[in-house]
Amino acid sequence: MDLYAGLPYWLIKNPLFNSEHALKENINIDVAIIGSGITGALVAHELCSHGIECAVIDKRPLCTGSSAASTAQLQYEIDIPLYQLLKKISEQTAVTAYQSSLQSIKDIQAVFQQTKLDAEFERKPTLYLASDKKGLKEIEKEYKVRKQYDLPVEFLDHTLLQSEYSIDKPGALRNYESAQMDAYKSAILLLDYHRKHNDLKLYPYTPVTSYTQNSNGYELSTEQGHTIHCKYLVIAAGYEAGKFLPKKIMDLLSTYALVSEPVPKEALWKDECLIWETARPYFYMRTTRDNRIMLGGEDIKFKNENLRDALLDRKTNNLISNFEKLFPDKKIKVDMSWCGTFSATKDGLPYIGEYPGMKQMYFALGYGGNGITFSMIAAQIIRKKIKGQSDSREMVFGFDRK
Ligand SMILES: Cc1cc2nc3c(=O)[nH]c(=O)nc-3n(C[C@H](O)[C@H](O)[C@H](O)COP(=O)(O)OP(=O)(O)OC[C@H]3O[C@@H](n4cnc5c(N)ncnc54)[C@H](O)[C@@H]3O)c2cc1C
Repeated sequence: MDLYAGLPYWLIKNPLFNSEHALKENINIDVAIIGSGITGALVAHELCSHGIECAVIDKRPLCTGSSAASTAQLQYEIDIPLYQLLKKISEQTAVTAYQSSLQSIKDIQAVFQQTKLDAEFERKPTLYLASDKKGLKEIEKEYKVRKQYDLPVEFLDHTLLQSEYSIDKPGALRNYESAQMDAYKSAILLLDYHRKHNDLKLYPYTPVTSYTQNSNGYELSTEQGHTIHCKYLVIAAGYEAGKFLPKKIMDLLSTYALVSEPVPKEALWKDECLIWETARPYFYMRTTRDNRIMLGGEDIKFKNENLRDALLDRKTNNLISNFEKLFPDKKIKVDMSWCGTFSATKDGLPYIGEYPGMKQMYFALGYGGNGITFSMIAAQIIRKKIKGQSDSREMVFGFDRK
């Protein structure tokens, strides 16, 4: 599958990390991680930091899957508002999912503070706009439940929103717990760091074509005809992980994003907060370190790559028009635009952990608009499992959650 098309900003902005080569022999390793995106990189970080030997295998150049196309906003707010999630799953699961996402942003920040790697991680507030009157009712309900469960949130009415942000919407929720980063750079820096400090093995251009379970763990076969013997197997294969799963667990969507030419800093909005909204599919935006405006949204059901890509120009125009409706006095020029495939689960939560019956094989599937915060949670849960420890979040994100 082509995971994206067009010009993802991060791949233009950053150098390609291609000093490593495809696997050229059979190997034995404690943990094999399939996938070198932000999920595989965070899993490798957790394992290497706890002295666990591992190798990362990817069929593409390192980290050039979905993570290279991500707009990389880190929010504790899941795509499905808490008041709605509470109707779909148990109270404990829903609330823990929100609390874990909140903690995850702090943990991602800690990863880059400890390693002193510049992942362009920046703390930002988030504005969750009521798109219309119906949206206002929704954010009122959402505000109440978030307060009830002690999640950080403020309510801004129309007057406050207008005076602080010059945004003409019925209201918004704000929190100061969000962040943004460069997911591509984060992953390549982490992989390179552990390659240098912890002898992490990296094998790009190495498609894993099949696997078999044996008494010692797993045996993987690569397209080039080599075998990887591992005790534990981690599937961080993003939206292509279906190959390793006995049943379908997600729906694929096409999504669109663009980045503007750099603008003067004064032309950005207050606090350069992350902005999204109650309408579905939602429109969202952030800024970049070099003062560009990044817009995203316009999601539709994925049918095939050709259809997704053919809509890029039209969707780019829609994103610009959404931006100009929100900020009528700001004009931007598109520098790069791209489209990507991503996926959503029914409850908006990722799948993390062992699939029933598949011992010592751990899935790290951060599906949904909050994939990256889920990647961090997956990395921690999987590290604990491999160390023989339990993690209460397994019940929340596992395959048999209630
Ligand atoms: C346009 C867009 C915007 C997004 N915005 C956000 C956002 O604002 N915030 C957020 O949190 N999330 C966002 N997401 C989602 C987020 O980007 C993803 O959740 C995340 O990048 C997934 O990372 P990953 O490492 O799991 O997958 P990937 O980055 O796709 O990495 C998986 C890797 O596995 C490899 N692989 C797959 N199968 C095999 C195989 N058989 N053998 C070997 N290698 C294999 C692939 O080549 C790939 O490199 C967005 C996604 C898109 C597309």
